[in-house]
Amino acid sequence: MDREAKPATPEPLEELCARKGMRMTEQRRVIARVLDAATDHPDVEELYRRASAIDPHISISTVYRTVKLFEDAGIIARHEFRDGRARYEPIPDEHHDHLIDLRTGRVIEFRIEEIERLQERIAAELGYELVDHRLELYGVPLKKKDP
Ligand SMILES: [Zn+2]
Repeated sequence: MDREAKPATPEPLEELCARKGMRMTEQRRVIARVLDAATDHPDVEELYRRASAIDPHISISTVYRTVKLFEDAGIIARHEFRDGRARYEPIPDEHHDHLIDLRTGRVIEFRIEEIERLQERIAAELGYELVDHRLELYGVPLKKKDP
């Protein structure tokens, strides 16, 4: 079973933007690169921190607008993991689900074929073809047993 999602190597956002005919300013390119490099589903403030470390002229409102633009273009996914912050990631080539560590906020990606198939079966039994789903698991680390 393939528990850990494969490292995502999707097409760079900059190329996706170009293919969609989006006008790419240098600041948008920086934000696209920061999103591509992220593995932790950052929120806008974190994206802003990383982008402004590269280009100090980038404003948080530019990050907001760019992220909204990318989201509307369907090239990044927005998640809300119950902490009131929207977080973003490039849409991966292969679907994955998320487990969120409630203590640390760490987001772990996984894909389990059995769950994928089960969800398709449930939809089919209800008379539907499954086109998308989201599964979020929320957990705290298991207590280690004393030896
Ligand atoms: Zn993810």
